Amino acid sequence: MDTFGHALWTGALYRKNPKRWVAVVCGVVPDLPILAALLLNPWPLLKGQGLPALDTIPPFLVALDLTAHSVLVFAVMAAVVWLMRPDMLVPFSGWGLHILIDVFSHANVPPFTATTFLFPVSDASISVVNWNHPVFIGVNYTLLALVYVLLWQRRIRTSPKT
Ligand SMILES: [Zn+2]
Repeated sequence: MDTFGHALWTGALYRKNPKRWVAVVCGVVPDLPILAALLLNPWPLLKGQGLPALDTIPPFLVALDLTAHSVLVFAVMAAVVWLMRPDMLVPFSGWGLHILIDVFSHANVPPFTATTFLFPVSDASISVVNWNHPVFIGVNYTLLALVYVLLWQRRIRTSPKT
C-alpha cells in the first residue's frame, strides 16, 4: 500500500491508544528506504514515467526495504521492544500491521515485487494486487473516507454538549 494509506489506516486503528502517533510512525517506517530512493532519483516520477525500476535503486536501500518488510525481523524487534519497553509494544505493532497490509497489496508486476515477508530465510510471497492499481486505490480510499467520516460522526455524537 502507499505510505499515506498506511498512515491513515494505522491512525484509525490505533486511535484509542495514547501513543497512536508512535504507532503511525511505526506504520510508515518500513517504507522509508523506498521513499529515500525516490528522493535520490525523483525524475521518473516527476516526468510521469512512474516509479523508478527496481534495478535503479541503490542495493543497500533495497536490502533495507526487504529487512523492514520481514515478519521475522519484525518479530525479533518486537521481542526487544517487549523486553525493554513493554508499554511500547502495542504502538510498535503498527510496523507489523504495515507488513500484513503489504503482503496483500503488492504483486509481482514491474516495477513492484510482492512482499517477501520471510526475508532473509525465504523469498516466499503472496502476489495479489498492487496498491497502485486504480481499483485498489479506489476501494482503499473509499473505505478510508468511510472510516474517517464514521469516526468523525461518532466523535460529534459523544462529545460533551455545552
Ligand atoms: Zn511497505
